[in-house]
This record gives sequence, structure tokens and C-alpha cells, in this order.
Amino acid sequence: MLKINLPPTPLIPIQLEPGSPTIWAKLEFLNPSGSAKDRIARHILMKAYRQGRLEPGDWVVEASSGSTAIALAMACAGMNLRFLAVLPEGASQERLLTIRAYGGEILTLPREAGMGAAVARAEEEARQRGGFATRQFENPDNCEAHQIFTAAEVLTQIPDGKVDAIVSGVGTGGTLVGLWQGCRQQNPACQPWACRPVTLSRELEIECCSFSARIPGVLDGFSSLYQPHKLPGLHQLEIEDRLALGTARRLIRRGFPVGPSSGLNFAAALLAAAELGDKAQIVTVFPDRMERYFSTELFNLEGDLAVAGSAPAGR
Ligand code: PMP
Repeated sequence: MLKINLPPTPLIPIQLEPGSPTIWAKLEFLNPSGSAKDRIARHILMKAYRQGRLEPGDWVVEASSGSTAIALAMACAGMNLRFLAVLPEGASQERLLTIRAYGGEILTLPREAGMGAAVARAEEEARQRGGFATRQFENPDNCEAHQIFTAAEVLTQIPDGKVDAIVSGVGTGGTLVGLWQGCRQQNPACQPWACRPVTLSRELEIECCSFSARIPGVLDGFSSLYQPHKLPGLHQLEIEDRLALGTARRLIRRGFPVGPSSGLNFAAALLAAAELGDKAQIVTVFPDRMERYFSTELFNLEGDLAVAGSAPAGR
């Protein structure tokens, strides 16, 4: 079994506009498979291997249409493991080809089945194949990976090793919870800030917000790892999805080749900075790369170029 250590990713102070706050961004898109999910893929597999729960040639199964499946497929290729991704149809051809290129197999379910059905089927497949279900939505090793690796890096990279707030969208919650757990060991006052993308619609002069699917990777209330009542000092922000996409485009123009959820995170971090003041050291994450989104709205450059720093949505 090949053990692959990940090199640290850079932590960069970014001031998007003159006079706007500086945000510390962890460039997780520079991980080998192109996303933060390399952290959890390597940690979960290596830990299971060390504990004797996984052996060369075994099946690894996960329900994911996104970065986690790609990261696991790559890690399994390097560790002599077989990989099966179970996902609702609709994932882009580029993603499916990437998983297959690493030797991964794909089982697609009807789109209407949703992620819940994919999770249940992944369990069943793991059981039938005598394999290992990585269970990113409930596996505490997901948070642990970010706590012992990502947060540890941040603490050596940021001035004075002090983080005042961690800002992140929540998919599994592993990034936000793990980073916060790690950073609060140095600064117990470190605050977790969760952000979620919303679509604003104005019909019949009633304004309503609904969770937006335009920012892939962040999901609505799906994970047992993200339990708001267990996060003291938690702030929850809603960010209009057009603002998230506009912010991602602005980051790309500044030379950061990021995907939509990085725009969400950065826009939310600016709001946190507006509340916490100039001296606060605010850390956010750029989870994945723009190349995964060529066929999506992010690259509809005729689209709305909403500016980071405009009014927050809702609440
Ligand atoms: N951004 C992207 C692109 C993602 O794929 C994910 C996770 N699926 C997230 C953000 C959220 O990360 P986490 O699962 O650690 O909450």
C-alpha cells in the first residue's frame, strides 16, 4: 500500500478591492486531485488501513457526484484499492471521465432518487462487496482530517498562529467543523461562520429565499457532522447565489482559478470581516478549481457580475 503525504496548501491574504478587508484564503484547490477532499480521502483510507479495516484489493464505496468521488478514486488508484462511486445522474461528463480514468467504477441512480437514495445504495453495495463505506456525511474522520492537517497548517501559516473566525459553506460540514476545532485549540474565542447560498425571488411583491443548487458542493441539512447546537458562537449567513458566482468570477480575474463555492465562502468572509473589524484574522477556504465548471453557469460570462461586498440576502 502506497502512503501518500499531501504537501501543505498555501494560505494567502487577499484584498479583493482597494479598501476592502483582507481575508486569509486556504488554496485547497491546489491539492493533487484539485479539491479539499484529498484531505478526507487520504485520512479516512489511511486510518482504516492502519486499523486493519481495509486491505489492498478491497472495494471502497462512496455516494458522491463531486470532489469526494474524484479524490477517493485518485487515492484508491495510488493505494491499490477498488473504488465505486454511487451517484444520482446529472454529474458532468468531465467528472465521470475523471473517476473512470483513475480506474473507478460508477453506478448512477435516477436523478429523482436524490442523494438520500445514493447514500443508502452505497451502503448496500459496500455490504455486498465486503467493502468499506467511507460515509463522508457521518464519518468523524472527515472532520478529524481537517482538524489535524488543514487547521494545523493554517496555524503555522497565519501571523501569531491566531484565527478569529473560520468561514465556510457546509456540505458534509467537515471543513468548517474540523478547521474550527483545530483553530480554537490556539484561540478558544475563534468563531465558526457557516454560509449557505440562497436564491432570491420576488413574486407578488413577496420576497422569499430558498436554498440554491447553483453552488455545487454545499447541501441543505444532510450531514450528521454539522450540528449547529454543538458549535458555540456559530454565525449563520445567507449569501445570494448571484453574489457567490460574481465573487468567484472576480477571484478568477485576480488569478485564483476557483469554483462557485469559493465565491460563496469569500463573499461570506467579507460580511464576517465587516462585523468583526479590521484586526480580526478571518480564514476561509477555496475548496475546488474552476476547470470543473466550464459547462456551468460560472462560465456564463454574460451573466450577472454581482460585486462582492453588496448587501447580504435575507436574515
Ligand atoms: N465546496 C465544494 C466544491 C464541495 O464539493 C464541498 C463538499 N462536497 C464543499 C464546498 C463543502 O465542504 P464540506 O463537505 O467539508 O462541508
